[in-house]
Amino acid sequence: RSKAANGNNICFFASDIEEREKDDFQTDELLRNALSNHLFELYYQPQVDLQSGRIIGAEALLRIRTEQGKIITPGEFLPRAERNGMIMPINEWVLRSACQQGAAWRKEGLPDISIGVNLSPVQFQRQSVPLLVGRLLGESGFPAHLLDLELTESIVLHDTEAVAIQLAQLRQLGVKISIDDFGTGCSSLSYVKHFPVDRLKVDQSFVRDMHENPSDAAIVRATISLGHSLGMEVIAEGVEYEQVSEMLSLEQCDSAQGYLFGKPQPASVMANLLRQQMQEDVPMSKEGAA
Ligand code: C2E
Ligand code: MG
Ligand code: MG
Ligand code: MG
Repeated sequence: RSKAANGNNICFFASDIEEREKDDFQTDELLRNALSNHLFELYYQPQVDLQSGRIIGAEALLRIRTEQGKIITPGEFLPRAERNGMIMPINEWVLRSACQQGAAWRKEGLPDISIGVNLSPVQFQRQSVPLLVGRLLGESGFPAHLLDLELTESIVLHDTEAVAIQLAQLRQLGVKISIDDFGTGCSSLSYVKHFPVDRLKVDQSFVRDMHENPSDAAIVRATISLGHSLGMEVIAEGVEYEQVSEMLSLEQCDSAQGYLFGKPQPASVMANLLRQQMQEDVPMSKEGAA
């Protein structure tokens, strides 16, 4: 993007650095503003049981809603937040909000669903995640077994020992652990060997076009059977087509998530989906019975 006037390589390089520093500066500003003015918001994407078709969970996905009403997705600010340390207060906010939201939905009488929260590997290096999670569950009253923490494989590239201890402590609390984007890292298999986890999330890059790509279909099938042989649940993400959903269901995949079932939406939209599902469960209305 940056064009140095004389086309000199060194100039190109220098202006690229300048540009990146400017981007970083702007992102820092965006993050600071979002933190102090409460512009973070969680969107929720439904997770559906493939046998019953019912919503059994929701993944919380972070957004910034700017003062102008623009929605910014995590790809634009999370990598920077992980580098400048702001990921710590942000992720604490995410965990707290997700637990509070889940508790509020239950209080309202909506059906129990699990809430998925993404964690960053840096969190495990800088704090005790089990301590934080235990405190936030206690404060919110959200049941541990409904909290589903999503970790990517990159977590094992860091301090394996410390991570293993924290994962064991988290499972003692009763929270569920999922491996996100399973199959994209270089350590997928050693991960499932060394860490006790509850669920594999097959990465969307294998799922999206599996109806027309036999290699993708083979990888997904093998992952489902790997997960099940190890006693884990398997969820497929990035399901966009009915055909894919049918294939997954035939392959005994437990659940699915993707645009076919619903995009990430504000909490109020997620609550409406749950209310709708509840009404469908009661075939006769109260007035009808009276
Ligand atoms: P992820 O956890 O793998 O989340 C799935 C991403 O795929 C989400 O993007 C979601 O909007 C998108 N997606 C879902 N279904 C479909 C589909 O059918 N087709 C396509 N093309 N995309 C789909 P999003 O919300 O932009 O999040 C991107 C990543 O940012 C997440 O990947 C996660 O790694 C990270 N992230 C999001 N929220 C948080 C958070 O609160 N904390 C941390 N640490 N990371 C987060
Ligand atoms: Mg995720
Ligand atoms: Mg994922
Ligand atoms: Mg991802």
